[in-house]
Amino acid sequence: MLINYKFLNKKIIKIRKDFPFLKRIIYKIYNLIYFDNAATIQMPNNVIKVINEYNIYYNSNIHRGTHYLSNSATLAYERTRKIVCKFINAKYKEEIIFTKGTTESINMVSNSYGFKLKKGNEILISIMEHHSNIIPWKILSEKKKLKLKIIPVNDKGLVDIKKYKRLFTKKTKLVVITHVSNVSGVINPIKKLSIIAHKKKSLILVDGAQAISHKKIDVQKLNVDFYVFSSHKSYGPTGVGILYVRLDILRCMVPWQFGGEMVRNFTFFKKKINFSEVPYKFEAGTQAICNIIAFYTSLKWLKKNLNFIKIWEKILIFYLIKKLNNIKNIHILGKNKRISVLSFIIEGINSHDIGLLLDQYGIAIRTGNHCVQPMLNNYGINTVCRISFAIYNSLEEIKLFVNFLKKIIKIFLY
Ligand code: PLP
Repeated sequence: MLINYKFLNKKIIKIRKDFPFLKRIIYKIYNLIYFDNAATIQMPNNVIKVINEYNIYYNSNIHRGTHYLSNSATLAYERTRKIVCKFINAKYKEEIIFTKGTTESINMVSNSYGFKLKKGNEILISIMEHHSNIIPWKILSEKKKLKLKIIPVNDKGLVDIKKYKRLFTKKTKLVVITHVSNVSGVINPIKKLSIIAHKKKSLILVDGAQAISHKKIDVQKLNVDFYVFSSHKSYGPTGVGILYVRLDILRCMVPWQFGGEMVRNFTFFKKKINFSEVPYKFEAGTQAICNIIAFYTSLKWLKKNLNFIKIWEKILIFYLIKKLNNIKNIHILGKNKRISVLSFIIEGINSHDIGLLLDQYGIAIRTGNHCVQPMLNNYGINTVCRISFAIYNSLEEIKLFVNFLKKIIKIFLY
């Protein structure tokens, strides 16, 4: 691939102007370098503008109003459902449910679809899952006496397909797996995994939290039954999550949360409650209306920039690995193709110390167990340093980061 760096640089300078947070000066000295995008990605100007406009001009509750403000908010809210549907190529907009994040989406599936599972049924779960895709299944398995079976990874950090196939039995009802690891950045071959799962008559839930802002997602091509992600990891605000469920499955699911908006009519004198149609019966109470409306603008922005993001983040990761490979005592987790996330440890230095010292230079990285303790334990470590990129990161920032990292290593090791 021929890369025109001059063009890329110009584009990055222009894009960075779209992100006001980059103007932050840390400790009154340093320009902020933000490498914690896997935790939360920053919002571009036009998304922030929509949030402000909503609060000034049409803050109101949706669906149940007869007045102008409520109608405008309802239209904008439902417009987001349509764009999410298109963005992930779902077949019907009714397959899209708003939640408050990836975590709540998974909890909804475990409490709704999961509730129908029977004693002895099995769920396959990969060892590289974020705790939000482990704990709900662990709790469910205890409550319903289900069996959780761990899908192992090989030494490259990839799912071991042969071992995966062998885990299935007639009792396997569900596979739960992340699309991209939030620690190693490794991409799982979801299409392959879902074909196997379906052949074995199991459903598959994919955690797309770390994939959605880095690669094109097509739920029909991937052939998944459930796909979940968060707005704040896709250039949108916090408090919004998406749960995609294939319509035939969704129609058989019972609601998990109960209250206003999700019943068609109710009387104390009948036992049966008449719930609203899908997806509304899964959206009880008042949602994060403002942020859901703003998420429309995030996805429009993401769609426009996704091809460039894919190219640019590849360059950033390649450059980072090249630079880190020159550092003695460093161990990078995973050896495979990765997406915009990289974790490492430096022998003899605590990862938290590295994070704290980098912060003194205005550099935000993530340190800790990243809510994936089973995977880290598998590697025999407790904490790592994680670098994760978004569109606005630059080669210059990586250069500065590596220089400061080398300084820190010198302080500790020499
Ligand atoms: N899954 C993965 C892979 C993640 O990285 C995260 C958050 O970092 C989550 C799930 C949880 O997302 P949220 O906190 O938005 O619910």
